[in-house]
Amino acid sequence: MKQRVNSPASPAGAELVPAGTPFDDLGVAVSCGEPLAHHTWLGTGGAAAYFCEPVDADALARIVGRCRERGIPLRVIGGGSNVLVPAAGFPGMVLRLSAPAFGAIEVQGNVVRAGAGAKLVHVVSAAVQAGLSGLETLVDVPGTVGGALVGNAGGHGGDIGERVRDVTVMVADGGTETRERGRLAFESRWSNLDDCIILGCRLELDQEDAGLLTKRMQKQWIVGRSQQPIGTRSVAMMFKDPLGTTAESLVVQSGARDLRCGEASVYAPHANYVVAGPRCTSDDVRGLVESVRTRVREKLGVELTPLIEVW
Ligand SMILES: Cc1cc2nc3c(=O)[nH]c(=O)nc-3n(C[C@H](O)[C@H](O)[C@H](O)COP(=O)(O)OP(=O)(O)OC[C@H]3O[C@@H](n4cnc5c(N)ncnc54)[C@H](O)[C@@H]3O)c2cc1C
Repeated sequence: MKQRVNSPASPAGAELVPAGTPFDDLGVAVSCGEPLAHHTWLGTGGAAAYFCEPVDADALARIVGRCRERGIPLRVIGGGSNVLVPAAGFPGMVLRLSAPAFGAIEVQGNVVRAGAGAKLVHVVSAAVQAGLSGLETLVDVPGTVGGALVGNAGGHGGDIGERVRDVTVMVADGGTETRERGRLAFESRWSNLDDCIILGCRLELDQEDAGLLTKRMQKQWIVGRSQQPIGTRSVAMMFKDPLGTTAESLVVQSGARDLRCGEASVYAPHANYVVAGPRCTSDDVRGLVESVRTRVREKLGVELTPLIEVW
């Protein structure tokens, strides 16, 4: 008797064959039950029902089309630095654009073309080396170009959206389109790119002396890194900065800096970060974010907006 590998009852001695997936006939490698904790900075959360790292846009389109036909929910994970996966995992397809086809970075004049899977830090360095300014304040933001565009990553020195000329995306039927600047909206840690898979973008930058720019980027890197938790990658930024102040200062003023929930605690030196201990769960992180938010509301009357996205 043959049993499917994923069957709950596989009697000892039964011959095992791989379980079928809705993607088996597409010629694309899809795995079942991939632990998403391996792909997020916090390192918590459950598994994806289906997981795929397509080799190119054609393979991606086949997966996207099949998800649409079968009503399978779909998410993209970038660097996983702004995602909190619940313990139950994700009951659909999770895509990661890690293949070289999605990671190219090219400089043409004052324009940088970057694939969605490229690391933001690599794009910033390529621009600076080419003597192009406008991105250097983003050098300490972890993650990919795709993640940065979705959340309009940035800080006090500006954000990525200010530099976007256009963004190429894949839509729900697997087709691609290029959205010009006029169709795009970027606000503080938000964009209207939440209905598509981002494939890449073109960023318009200013010409400047590469030596001076390199020094500025290095300074930003040192300052930025000195404000992030050291010695661990199991961290996330909790809240967006409200207009005119910082989330960190509100957390400190409200006395929430000492809060913890299970194995999740506020990083005291820079109190807008949550640090996940070795046995931390996603519920711990969620609980802590809610406790901090409640404390700030009760003590200061300010409603903080979470930055980290709960799947
Ligand atoms: C230590 C630390 C420091 C940070 N500092 C900053 C900071 O200074 N400024 C700031 O803005 N943020 C900061 N963040 C938050 C985070 O790094 C940013 O939001 C980052 O841009 C997320 O990129 P990512 O690739 O990791 O995205 P992920 O966390 O993987 O995903 C974030 C969202 O983008 C979506 N997404 C990712 N790629 C694609 C794609 N190709 N197509 C469609 N959707 C996609 C995901 O589905 C998800 O909705 C920090 C986080 C940490 C842990």
